[in-house]
Amino acid sequence: VTTAIGIDLGGTKILAVLVRDGAVEAVAKRDTPREGPPAVLEALVAVARELGPDDLGCVGVGAPGPVVPGTGRVGPATNLPGWDRPIDVSTPVAAALGVPTELENDANAAAYGEHQLGAGAGSHDMLAVWLGTGVGGGLVLGGRLWRGRGLAGEIGHVVVHPGGRRCGCGGLGHLEAYAGRAAMEREARRRHADGRATRLVEIAGEKRMKSSVFAKALAAGDEVAAELVGEAVEAVGAAVGNAALLVDLDRVVIGGGLGERLGQPFIDRVVTAAGRRLDGSGLQIVPAQIGDEAGALGAALLAVDRYPR
Ligand SMILES: [Zn+2]
Repeated sequence: VTTAIGIDLGGTKILAVLVRDGAVEAVAKRDTPREGPPAVLEALVAVARELGPDDLGCVGVGAPGPVVPGTGRVGPATNLPGWDRPIDVSTPVAAALGVPTELENDANAAAYGEHQLGAGAGSHDMLAVWLGTGVGGGLVLGGRLWRGRGLAGEIGHVVVHPGGRRCGCGGLGHLEAYAGRAAMEREARRRHADGRATRLVEIAGEKRMKSSVFAKALAAGDEVAAELVGEAVEAVGAAVGNAALLVDLDRVVIGGGLGERLGQPFIDRVVTAAGRRLDGSGLQIVPAQIGDEAGALGAALLAVDRYPR
């Protein structure tokens, strides 16, 4: 029996799962503390203790920032207050819980979760694309998570329009600038300020323009929403098509808030946008299956791979 805890450390919440022999047995969650890294590390330990089985073998943590493989450190993490440099997560968590602890980037962990037990099952070479506030990704090649030196799978910052829209990272024409929810919101508000009427702003008001707002406005036939989603489709299609050709992917899994909200019709359009060169290649582009727990589950499974009993 292998028992592991996987923890997905997010900007707003921490979600933990207890995994026994590859199945999720319990879930715990709490808000992410805003007081800085020491409070966050304490919360990771506390949520693991809450699930705390007697036979715990290892812990995996997925975190929202760059992870240099093998260091146990993540950062800087822009979504976590005060996390302005690489900080060691593995050592303090392992010391507090008394079991080995593996740290992975959250998008990579979620990709591995989908590959092992979700929409990527049976795939040999897979890319997962997470369309959330930003755009993340994870690459599984030959059935193993492909980390490179820590940058592999970072599809959100590949160029889809040279010299195009400015990305949150400062670069121009990146996928995230067209298909990330926050960038799409910025663009919607810019077009609204330029005099375009749009249901997007009517529905969202001053509040965050959530994925559901895009889905509602699109369903209502809103022109600006249709333009922005159309641009997102073209951008995701270009990035996925390029990645698929580069390493001959057999599957692409699309998930994240926006991916889930827009669903199969969105994915059907991405398939078309990915290009005819891929027709007959056997590439499947499919929606993610696991949802919110993919990152925590993947982190647990990666820890089990690294620290088998
Ligand atoms: Zn970027």
